[in-house]
Amino acid sequence: MRALFCPQPGSLEIRDIATPSVGAGQALIQVARASVCGTDIHKYRAEQSEKLADGSDMIVGHEPAGWVAAVGEGVTHLKLGQRVLIAGVFSCGDCHFCRQGYNTCCEVSRCGLHWDHHGCNSDYTLIPAQNAIALPDDLSFDVAALLTCAGGTAITINQECAVTADDVVGIIGLGPVGLSTLLLAKAYGAKVIGIDLNEERLALADDLGCDVCINGNDGDVVSSVHQVNNGRGCDVVAECVGLAATQKQAVAISRMRTRIGFAGLGTQNYDDNIALSLIDKSIHGIGIAATPIKYFRPMVELVASKQLAFDKMIHSHYPLEQASDAFAAMESGCRGKVLIDIADEYTPL
Ligand SMILES: [Zn+2]
Ligand SMILES: [Zn+2]
Repeated sequence: MRALFCPQPGSLEIRDIATPSVGAGQALIQVARASVCGTDIHKYRAEQSEKLADGSDMIVGHEPAGWVAAVGEGVTHLKLGQRVLIAGVFSCGDCHFCRQGYNTCCEVSRCGLHWDHHGCNSDYTLIPAQNAIALPDDLSFDVAALLTCAGGTAITINQECAVTADDVVGIIGLGPVGLSTLLLAKAYGAKVIGIDLNEERLALADDLGCDVCINGNDGDVVSSVHQVNNGRGCDVVAECVGLAATQKQAVAISRMRTRIGFAGLGTQNYDDNIALSLIDKSIHGIGIAATPIKYFRPMVELVASKQLAFDKMIHSHYPLEQASDAFAAMESGCRGKVLIDIADEYTPL
């Protein structure tokens, strides 16, 4: 099978390798689509390429959707040819947190696609069968790939911050996670204020139904938020950038008892006393790290039943052979998501 590797930083290589064979409790997935993530670009530009435990090169990518091509012993909930997306964090499945559906907090072992384990940008990918999430017929693979990571983070923000139709939700950063948060918050009936510095992203947010779009370069963001919200801050804030400045902005646009989902992962230190900032407004600060497996099924059902416009977030498609161009498009800061098309038809093994 074809598989995409990043043997050294900044270089991608397609190799022909043996198709893995399936073991007990596992499923082999024929990959149809894999989207490119900001995390892929960070790893591609890192000082060192990520390797497997034995030091060998790792297949890249963690945002796949495709067909069940083979199942191992004991797997009864999947059928061959079934359309699925993959929840990308693998865990023990049986500890305190796994039993609650928070596999991302597993106490025993955590790894995942392109994380101490091969990624998925290949013709086939081998996964724990419990991580295959069935797709309804009317949900395309293009959209399903977007739900694996950006959509997953967004449903986690919405769920962990308990967004309802009564809420005004401020979203700082309108990249794929911010835009997905917008689509889901609108599906829950919330009013959404989107904040970004990029006019193209703001225009896309407007197109996706954002109630108020604010360019952070235009004047005082806090007073702009107050102007559109009767002098109050936001009920929920999604911080999707990860800079110290935007984390402070998240606190600044909060009201009393706001729930802030911190989803942006940066390297800067928050140089204020963050506890003091949170105490002052009795803010609930919630760390958002990947997608607990329990949120995938409800998200897939919500997106399919309301036909949410995730497809409008797709920027471009590239075949696997042009993965370098796909990475370059994503790295250019294009709006929305870039997809790698790996297969259009299920081919039984
Ligand atoms: Zn991702
Ligand atoms: Zn566990």
